Amino acid sequence: MGKAVVIYPPADIDAIPDRHILDSEKEVEVFDAAVEAVVKDITQLSERLKDVLPEEDRALFDVYLLMLNSQAISGITRDRIREGNWAPGALRQTIQEHEQVFREMEDSYLRERADDVRDLGRRILMHLQEESPVKIDYPENTVLVGEDISASMLAEIPSEKLAGVISVRGSRTSHVAILARAMSISAVMGATDLPVAKIDGRTIIADGYSGRIFISPSKKVTNEFKRIIDEEAALSDELMELRDLPAKTQDGIEISLLVNSGLLSDITPSLQSGAEGIGLYRTEFPFMERQKFPSEEEQHSIYRQVLESFHPRPVTLRTLDVGGDKALPYFPIEEDNPFLGWRGIRITLDHPEIFLVQIRAMIRASIGLNNLKILLPMISDISELNDALGLIHQVYGELLEEGEEVVMPEIGVMIEVPSAVYQAGNLARRVDFLSIGSNDLTQYLLAVDRNNARVASLYDSLHPAVIRAILQVVESARVHDKPVSVCGEMAGDPIAALLLLAMGIDSLSMSVSSLPRVKWVIRNITRDRARQILSDVLTLEDAAGIRKYLNETFEEAGMGGLVRAGN
Ligand code: PEP
Ligand code: MG
Repeated sequence: MGKAVVIYPPADIDAIPDRHILDSEKEVEVFDAAVEAVVKDITQLSERLKDVLPEEDRALFDVYLLMLNSQAISGITRDRIREGNWAPGALRQTIQEHEQVFREMEDSYLRERADDVRDLGRRILMHLQEESPVKIDYPENTVLVGEDISASMLAEIPSEKLAGVISVRGSRTSHVAILARAMSISAVMGATDLPVAKIDGRTIIADGYSGRIFISPSKKVTNEFKRIIDEEAALSDELMELRDLPAKTQDGIEISLLVNSGLLSDITPSLQSGAEGIGLYRTEFPFMERQKFPSEEEQHSIYRQVLESFHPRPVTLRTLDVGGDKALPYFPIEEDNPFLGWRGIRITLDHPEIFLVQIRAMIRASIGLNNLKILLPMISDISELNDALGLIHQVYGELLEEGEEVVMPEIGVMIEVPSAVYQAGNLARRVDFLSIGSNDLTQYLLAVDRNNARVASLYDSLHPAVIRAILQVVESARVHDKPVSVCGEMAGDPIAALLLLAMGIDSLSMSVSSLPRVKWVIRNITRDRARQILSDVLTLEDAAGIRKYLNETFEEAGMGGLVRAGN
């Protein structure tokens, strides 16, 4: 619960929110200056093209200049500013209105002028943003709202000020949602009908359990949610008491609970959570926060801090997994199907210089500590694993030759692509452990984009196909006597964790906020009972049925507070 702060990428006119201002005459001056700057740009452009373009083509620039100074664009925008909107918001309204008028025209030449209107709007906006680059002062309890909030946008905001995130695009396993979960803040993804432009500065409630949003809620709703927030806090405090107790079932079966991490700032909460180590450190997050690829020394220092803080507990560092929905601002990738494209190990094997530097930094960081494990993402073919292992051994050999006292870390493979499920045995034979990435595995098995709000209802890791795939991986790993963990979001979902326990998964790695709840479930059940529930689940034919059955089982066992808001 908090105040909505709408953020948007620069020069994207549709994403600009309305914002109330007090000094409208000053804002009109700012707007006029931006228009003047565009007039200058276009005049210069026209001059420069004098020798290249014939007179009649250059006439377009005159049309631009006329439009710019017209009542229709500048006049109406000024009026809107005088009514109290800030310049970018007033400009957005004007541009959208005119674009619409042109788009509906019969004449195809006139219809295309809609693009010119938009182009002019963008040019003015760029100057407005240059004049006053949006530096947002985030209030206490900021609820970040946007069309397409990315993990890097979230990472920029001081986490103590964040109360929630709402994004029009994306879904519960988008990386921004994962990051929000890691920071213990409520998130609603795929809010497709949200009037983003209209809610900046309003009081807003985001219920991350149900996906409901309340804009300017009534006193009654506000009080109800205050009560729920208090209950949640009390439940969390109660669960914190389990911190130093083992995740052991009532019939004495122990399972390791580990945390997922990727930010230095979440090391302290992870340490305090009673986790037995880090099961997944997403190294792409520190890469995202920078302006260029971090050097070997920079990486070494980050990894060293993580390994030291958790020592002697194990820390699993995953090699760079960019691509898909994780872009690096300094390494742009343009693809039609990014999730089926250049991602994870595919990129780092094509750029061994990136991979080698990262592996060197990791192995060096573990000198004297020896609690490092390395995890390889997006393996879909044995040759990729062989190549990666070759490079890791090369680095290890070089470091030995340099006289460093390095120890060969344990190496694991992520099972997150269907081909890896069917080859889990071949993969397990070559490495020390397997880790199931249920987020991508669900996406690729069900052919449902993990970020696409339109198909989000089809995305469910409790789908019978996903459950059977995981069972198959566990069996293949057993044959080769190799441990298996699950490090996707599924591991932190109490009802799914129960099934994973029943399957004989060795460890679960999850966001720190999920850990106490999962521990509670494990301590309140026997493995026999979990196995019985799993065998019931295996008779059900769809994810909805499985979820319903498990939710009911939880309510009956008095654990409903783990799967919905409130106690
Ligand atoms: C996964 O795919 O389940 C996983 C853990 O990796 P990521 O979410 O970073 O893709
Ligand atoms: Mg993945």
